[in-house]
Amino acid sequence: MSDDVEARLATVLERIGAAEAQYGRAPGSAQLIAVSKTFDADAIRPVIAAGQRRFGENRVQEAQSKWPALRAETTDIELHLIGPLQSNKAREAVSLFDAIHTIDRDKIAGAIADEMARLGRTPLLFVQVNTGLEPQKAGIAPREAVAFVERCRAEHGLAIAGLMCIPPANEIPGPHFALLAKLAAEAGLRELSMGMSSDFETAIAHGATYMRVGGAIFGHRPPIA
Ligand SMILES: *Cc1c(COP(=O)(O)O)cnc(C)c1O
Repeated sequence: MSDDVEARLATVLERIGAAEAQYGRAPGSAQLIAVSKTFDADAIRPVIAAGQRRFGENRVQEAQSKWPALRAETTDIELHLIGPLQSNKAREAVSLFDAIHTIDRDKIAGAIADEMARLGRTPLLFVQVNTGLEPQKAGIAPREAVAFVERCRAEHGLAIAGLMCIPPANEIPGPHFALLAKLAAEAGLRELSMGMSSDFETAIAHGATYMRVGGAIFGHRPPIA
C-alpha cells in the first residue's frame, strides 16, 4: 500500500519535471500540492516519508483533526486550504494554513485580513476565479476578478499572490487555464494555482506555479460521508 503511494508520487514528480522541460519552464517552477482530503494520517505518512512537504485540504475542520499531529512529527510541512471558506472559519484557517486559495468575496477578504492582523500570520493568498461561470462553484466571475484583487489590496490591505481556478469537469481545461493566466497578468500577479490529476501537464503548459493533485498520488478517494 505505501509502496504504491511512493511509486505514484514519484511518477507525478517525473511527469511534472518532463512537462516543465517540454514547455520551457524552469525546473521546480511548477510546485506540487499533494491533496490529502478524505485520507487519514496513516495514509498521509508514507507521502511525507517519501519527501513530500506541501499538502492541500479542502475542509478546515478535517485539516484541524489531522495536521497538528502530523506537524508534530515533521516540522516543515506547508499546508494549503483549497476548499471554500466561511468567514466564521477564518480564524482557524489563518492559524492552521500557510496558503489560502479560495478568497472570492469581500466578506472573506475582510475576515482573513482581521485574523492575519490578530494572529500575526501572513499566509500566501489566492483569489479563486469561477472561469466557467458555474452556479454551483465558488469563485469570483472573470470580469470582476481584477477589480476584486485591487479591492483586496486597497480596502482590505491584503497582498494577493495569485489566482486559482477549477475548470468545469466536462470541458477541456486549456482555455480556462489561459484565461486565468491572462487575468493574473492583468492584475500583476505571479502565482497560478491550477491543474489537478487529470490535467496538470496542460496547466504547466499555461504557466501553473502550483498544481493541486490528489488521486494521482493517493489513489481513489473514499466517498465523502
Ligand atoms: C480534490 C481537489 C483537487 C484534487 O483533485 P484530483 O482530481 O484528485 O487530483 C484539486 N483542487 C481542489 C480544489 C480539490 O477540491
